[in-house]
Amino acid sequence: MDLLRARAAAAPPRHDLSALPAVEALVAVARPEEPMHCLRPAAIAGAAAGFVAGFPGETLYAVKCNPEPAVLRAVWEGGVRHFDCASAGEVALVRGLLPEAAIHFMHPVKARSAIREAWQRHGVRDFVLDTAGELAKIREETGTLAAGAGAAEGLGLFVRLALPKGVARYDLSGKFGAEPEAAAALLRAARPQAARLGLCFHVGSQCLEPLAWRRALALAGEVIRAAGVTVDVVDVGGGFPVAYPDVTPPPLGAFFAEIEAGFEALALPGAVLWAEPGRALVAGGGSVVVQVQQRRDGALYVNDGVYGTLSDAGAPGFVFPCRLIRPDGPVAAESQDFVLFGPTCDSADRMAGPFRLPADVREGDWIEIGQLGAYGACLRTAFNGFDRARLVEVRDRPMLEGEASAA
Ligand SMILES: *Cc1c(COP(=O)(O)O)cnc(C)c1O
Repeated sequence: MDLLRARAAAAPPRHDLSALPAVEALVAVARPEEPMHCLRPAAIAGAAAGFVAGFPGETLYAVKCNPEPAVLRAVWEGGVRHFDCASAGEVALVRGLLPEAAIHFMHPVKARSAIREAWQRHGVRDFVLDTAGELAKIREETGTLAAGAGAAEGLGLFVRLALPKGVARYDLSGKFGAEPEAAAALLRAARPQAARLGLCFHVGSQCLEPLAWRRALALAGEVIRAAGVTVDVVDVGGGFPVAYPDVTPPPLGAFFAEIEAGFEALALPGAVLWAEPGRALVAGGGSVVVQVQQRRDGALYVNDGVYGTLSDAGAPGFVFPCRLIRPDGPVAAESQDFVLFGPTCDSADRMAGPFRLPADVREGDWIEIGQLGAYGACLRTAFNGFDRARLVEVRDRPMLEGEASAA
């Protein structure tokens, strides 16, 4: 394992991809008995650059999706300069790594200390809210209680609009957001206090339908009209989808086209668009290599699971691409579907997949599972003592080439 660390530490400048190892070669040398997280910085920088080039507005990276420093640097390298943070920890992390970044605090319910720290120490000016109480809290903790003080000091206020339950794979409609009438009232209340006023929403994560944004923008337009105030930013959130073995989403360009048309239809002079993609920038840039510890017929017991990197492969039922890595010998030509079990003693630590692999998988083999750059490694827990893993940067391309792109 020392070898692995040494290789990672000696990682060359990011552009010199050819000097990064390939996953298969790394497994052959390191023979990892703990999960090995493989980061593809070039894939992340490429996806970020594609989004920035295609989206008709400003791109904010949603940090919660994967806060790994190497990921943040790759996103920056792809041209993203704005970061959507949701906690004091994320704000401090981004500020420490990327001193020039513009940071936006986009969580509608914040600790008072987090607001103070972001405002005073890290230069954050934009805050989201969905209640009058949160607006008061933001004004108190930023010291902008006097009428017009926020506007004078560059305070940005963003009202989060609730959306009806949509079609996204991950519904996010139940927790945050003001209903249209309340959102209009909040826009009116915030306008005199804000140097910059925005309306934002989130259609839900892994949303496959471009029209979902069109509908949300139409609702945003009604709210803005009802409020009767000028809005500077319409923030269409995240939710942009990526490919999985059982889903091929429309190309990102189809989403951008609907958003642009929907925004133009609102005819808001002087307003600009923002987006907060997470998954779409980083999913293809991460994989995990697990080892098979036991086989029981069609079930493989492996060393990572739903309490580790593979949370979405459990109850949410996402299907991930996979491949067998057996450095020492040939592999059967026939394949079959397998179920995986993770290492903890909880019977919920089960991943139905299907994971299609060569029929002769056996103890000691490695399996690389891909499209895990988003909501993968960052969801790991230490449950049952299984919290050890390695992180390496690799030269491989994403495991699914059906990857949504701006093309
Ligand atoms: C999680 C989140 C995002 C990113 O969502 P994706 O589906 O990963 O694109 C963006 N904005 C907010 C407010 C979020 O909570």
